[in-house]
Amino acid sequence: MLITELKAKESIEALVGGKAFIINCFGCKEVHFPEKEAMEFEKELAEAGKVTGCLTMDYICNPDNLKLQTANFKDEIAAADTILVFSCGVGVQTVADLFADKKVCAACDTYELPGYQGVTPQLFDCDQCGQCFLNGTGGICPLTACSKSLVNGQCGGAKNGMCEVDPEMECGWERIQKRLEKLGKVDMLRNLPVQIRDYSTDDATKECKQSE
Ligand code: SF4
Ligand code: SF4
Repeated sequence: MLITELKAKESIEALVGGKAFIINCFGCKEVHFPEKEAMEFEKELAEAGKVTGCLTMDYICNPDNLKLQTANFKDEIAAADTILVFSCGVGVQTVADLFADKKVCAACDTYELPGYQGVTPQLFDCDQCGQCFLNGTGGICPLTACSKSLVNGQCGGAKNGMCEVDPEMECGWERIQKRLEKLGKVDMLRNLPVQIRDYSTDDATKECKQSE
């Protein structure tokens, strides 16, 4: 299980830039999604003329279902600068994989509760870190795609694109670089401020559990 919380509205607005196509996932009903806050915020964006369309569905972490549902919104997605996703980290990664040539942004942070998460965590894993980094990595999770869970770029040990820890695995940071190159946003890596993992989010999870 997990809890998602909305990122700061200002940071989401800055990420979106122009217009956004919104995808909401209400799949895991036993999981907390900030449904009311998300709807209010989306209304504000729509009233400001910043939304090309909106899709609300269950389990966006099911790639086949996601492909099927988004096929009805081709024009709205093409007209958007960004796909803004309100879901856990698995859902955002599923969208980013399907729309690899489109900027995809996470509107939420994902916090851990023990148990179930989505339908395809084996394809796109999320460690529920409470501080989602996907907006700076082209929608590829640096915690689960990198053997050392590095958040500030690669360790330098990769050989021929493969991880120095697990030679069977493609280096997560090389995947991130390739994705950003495809998006024409590789400068994001050069300009990325040093990121510090906030391990206190573990405490936030405990507080949430205690308040249940
Ligand atoms: S950075 Fe990775 S682990 Fe953290 S919330 Fe995002 S997808 Fe999950
Ligand atoms: S080689 Fe790449 S994936 Fe492996 S630990 Fe280093 S940065 Fe992470």
